Amino acid sequence: ITNDEMCEICEVWTAESLYPCRICSRVFHDGCLRRMGYLRNDNTLELTEMAHTETGWSCYYCDNLNLLLTQEEMYSLMEMFSQCKVIPECPLTLDDFLHYKHLVNRQLQDKSLSDDLEEQVTLQFSSMDPEKKGQVEWGDFISHESICLLQKLRTENSLLRLLTAKERERTRATFLSLDQDNNKLINGSECRRAQHGWFRKQSKEAVSCNVSISHVGPMSESSPASSTSGKSQDKTPLTSDPDEGRQVSWDTFLKENAIFILAARPNSSAIHLKPSV
Ligand SMILES: [Zn+2]
Ligand SMILES: [Zn+2]
Repeated sequence: ITNDEMCEICEVWTAESLYPCRICSRVFHDGCLRRMGYLRNDNTLELTEMAHTETGWSCYYCDNLNLLLTQEEMYSLMEMFSQCKVIPECPLTLDDFLHYKHLVNRQLQDKSLSDDLEEQVTLQFSSMDPEKKGQVEWGDFISHESICLLQKLRTENSLLRLLTAKERERTRATFLSLDQDNNKLINGSECRRAQHGWFRKQSKEAVSCNVSISHVGPMSESSPASSTSGKSQDKTPLTSDPDEGRQVSWDTFLKENAIFILAARPNSSAIHLKPSV
């Protein structure tokens, strides 16, 4: 998979100083990004550090999950915000977030959140608040709601069409590394564990605020495929995993991971769609 040859912004070719997006094929000059206001001086270093690492850097198109919505979807999201009295551009506390999710649930299903769902909402909140500041930034909230909407409204095939060539290639490599006996099948628990693997991004310092190119820390040593850290969140080995015996093909693997791969696009260290278990 090759990157574009010319800077997306100025359309000039100067090989040495182009920074590639990890999601799409676009490349950029850091100077052009700064000129356009996509880069503030204090995170230039991070772009230059991140863009050529394995974690990579997402350009301002790919960083913004909101751009994946159609105009209609966008409109319905904004409708919901205004009905639920969500104040745009403001960070949300856990109470705000729970309140919003309660209202949305009541509108859609005419009932309050179950304890189980409330627990999930709380977990989702804390995975979007990696610095434990007690609040979720507006940009992360929008990204989360956008991905929820995609999950709810789009078909599996339409989600697959959103994946880029780079994302497919990474997913393919992950699948192949899990398929150790080369029979084109992996088991269900490996498939589920991979859903955590796309979010291997950690902030290395306090996230200041939601800028389009924000802080992404160094990738952990392990690739999503070989990582074992996801296991710590799994059940204890004593409990038998019903998914262990399920056989998963490449097509199914791609389908079951697509929404999480999309959710992992932003540079923000927040996890915008927490996989269950
Ligand atoms: Zn340029
Ligand atoms: Zn991009």
